Amino acid sequence: MPESKQTFRPGTLWSAVVNRTRQAIEKGALRPIATERETVEDEGVAFDVRVVSALARKAYEANPDVRPPDFDPFLPYEEELFVANISKTHVGVLNKFPVVDNHLLIVTRAFEEQTSLLTPSDFQAFWVCLREFEGLAFYNSGQVSGASQRHKHLQVVPLPFFSDVPAIPIQPALENVIVTEGIGRSPMLPFDHAIARLDDVGGLSFLNAGARLLEKYAALLDAVGLGSASDEGRAYNMLATRRWMMLVPRSRERFHGISVNALGFAGELLVMDREQLETLRRHGPMAALISVAI
Ligand code: AMP
Repeated sequence: MPESKQTFRPGTLWSAVVNRTRQAIEKGALRPIATERETVEDEGVAFDVRVVSALARKAYEANPDVRPPDFDPFLPYEEELFVANISKTHVGVLNKFPVVDNHLLIVTRAFEEQTSLLTPSDFQAFWVCLREFEGLAFYNSGQVSGASQRHKHLQVVPLPFFSDVPAIPIQPALENVIVTEGIGRSPMLPFDHAIARLDDVGGLSFLNAGARLLEKYAALLDAVGLGSASDEGRAYNMLATRRWMMLVPRSRERFHGISVNALGFAGELLVMDREQLETLRRHGPMAALISVAI
């Protein structure tokens, strides 16, 4: 039987994510990584630092991921992790090793390189998801930007990260944006970045939203000097909610061994142990971001 590409019924994506997560955990297909949460205040931002628990580290050491480096986990994806057809070109699949609950990957059906430029259909797919539930969409463009898989995948995590603080730790920086010629920058973020507001996207059809988001993305790439870079020379993170999109060009993946991806620039960092947490405390998370950005 040919694979069905019927997309989900509007208004049902969030419950599909939650139900699939529960079923996949029961079947052992989903392997959440347990962490302990710490807060590190720096430069007016209360960063969340998740520390991988000793138990989770032990479990991984007992059952390491031994797949070859060229293995593509999304072609095919694991059936137990499938959530929904997002569009003709993209599939929604659960992150197999989530740190954040209900973490959705938006994967291209056909192989595309993670370092290739985002396309109107990528933006259309991520907008379809953001319209379904309040979330942070992000993209790690290649290994230097924190990506671990070559097959193109955008990602969405639900917001808020925690209920006791702003929905996103860097919220104070986003409330303090100076716009020049249509490009926003926050004086609280001391590294290259560019921000666009998305207020004019909400009322558009998905097709037109994809096109409008692409225009904004192209303008942000130009603003951070990556407009004419080659795929290999174009390392950046993209983060977006329904209200804004931000691009951060990258110089390196790690700060003192700590891998940073797009979530780091939302104020959510992940460390492997208490030693790495102390490194972050000593230098300050903002110094870590400055070091891996430009
Ligand atoms: P990134 O590391 O940003 O490239 O995101 C890729 C994500 O894919 C990682 O967070 C992994 O946990 C996740 N992942 C790895 N293998 C699989 C798999 N077989 N199915 C679904 N997700 C996976």
